[in-house]
Amino acid sequence: MQPDIESFLGYSRRFYDEHRFTNNGPLVRLLEARLAELHQSEHCITFASGFWALVLAMHSLAVPGRSEVVLPSFTYRRMADLAWWARLVPRFCDVERETLAVSRATVEPCINKDTALLLGVHPIVNCCPADELEALAADHGLPLLFDAVESAYETYGGRKVGTFGSAEVFSMHASKLLNGFEGGYVTTDDDELAGRLRYQRGFGFKGLDNVEMLGVNSKLNEVHAAMALAALDDLDAQVERNRARYWAYRDKLASVRGIRLVEFDEGERCGFKNIVVELLDDWPFTRQETLDALHAEGMLARPYYSPALHQKPASYRTEHGPLPVTEECEPRFLVLPSGARVSLDDVDLVVAFLAFLSSSGSRLGSGGRSSAGSSSTSGSRSSGSGHDQRAVSA
Ligand SMILES: *Cc1c(COP(=O)(O)O)cnc(C)c1O
Repeated sequence: MQPDIESFLGYSRRFYDEHRFTNNGPLVRLLEARLAELHQSEHCITFASGFWALVLAMHSLAVPGRSEVVLPSFTYRRMADLAWWARLVPRFCDVERETLAVSRATVEPCINKDTALLLGVHPIVNCCPADELEALAADHGLPLLFDAVESAYETYGGRKVGTFGSAEVFSMHASKLLNGFEGGYVTTDDDELAGRLRYQRGFGFKGLDNVEMLGVNSKLNEVHAAMALAALDDLDAQVERNRARYWAYRDKLASVRGIRLVEFDEGERCGFKNIVVELLDDWPFTRQETLDALHAEGMLARPYYSPALHQKPASYRTEHGPLPVTEECEPRFLVLPSGARVSLDDVDLVVAFLAFLSSSGSRLGSGGRSSAGSSSTSGSRSSGSGHDQRAVSA
């Protein structure tokens, strides 16, 4: 999602004229104020990436002396690495079949005497039940952090995402709703946490030459803040465009047999960014065959969070019990092309092609793939799924 270049250059001129390039410059401070307002949180602390925002927030919030963080397996592919950098052992929990989200019922069985932190991750369509998780965390006296990267625009129960739990983390990677090239931020109402994160992102410096805590260099710079501010100005318009694409997918997919759109809960505020579909039992192809056929047409669909994290080899310790819902769902979902460079005509082509697969698949059997490839529609459409570096141009 790319904002207007004049808007980006207009913001950039300000830091350039002031010779302030990084280290909590004027645009970073303006961006933090505007994001705190957007999320109705007391504090917003920006970072060079969502990754480091998550690591530092996890590290800061974990109960000292305990080792485990509870998080879903069916989620962002680097989530377990994040836990490792925060010196925590990931304990994977399951998700709900209906929502693909964690819930009290899926998280609670994973809590034990070693639990240091609960990490609620919003799925890429709709939110996890944030109030239910807050109550769970309170009952067990545990800190609760949200990865809210995919829910930056959303409300849950009418309340803006950004004020739930102890803190929430967002990304401004180019593939996400708010494009700052790279970047991330934490929102929180906790003054002490906000103060600590500010020091830690800048080497732990407190004052000119006084290092008081362990830190990293993960500051956001001014040119990234300029981009994010321009994107923020365009955010509502961008969501309107996303909504038009989503509605087009919804209306057209309704008549395609064997495929189900994961619908946004329009009773809440939604960003409408990602188009997720489930392949049902009467869909005639495997997910991989379906993806191969779409890719052969230049339609860059992606598997939804696959493989699940507990199914991948890791070079560090992880823990989990049985995860039946995750394992059932893992091969069934995909993310269809979306984002600024996908037109409504492109949506028509993608759905027409899926309808073709649906109706011809049973007849073609495994030969469906190559036959499908010959009904050529040209052009490359990028997925806005945000799970892959290739989606950067979306
Ligand atoms: C992209 C993403 C991140 C990481 O953000 P970066 O800014 O790319 O480091 C974390 N969580 C989720 C759910 C993401 O999609």
